[in-house]
Amino acid sequence: MVNPTCALCGQQAESEDLPLTWVTSMENGRRLVYCDRCARENVRSIESKLDSAWW
Ligand SMILES: [Zn+2]
Repeated sequence: MVNPTCALCGQQAESEDLPLTWVTSMENGRRLVYCDRCARENVRSIESKLDSAWW
């Protein structure tokens, strides 16, 4: 198993379990994760990508 790694800043979680403050985003069939800081800063773009980026 690989510890979750933030898709934006590359920060790696301390365990294989995703911290509660981190956010997952299904993008192009892959699960990306964002650390708490990046999730806060990018929540709008993450949410908009869910709707529009792949079509
Ligand atoms: Zn991050």
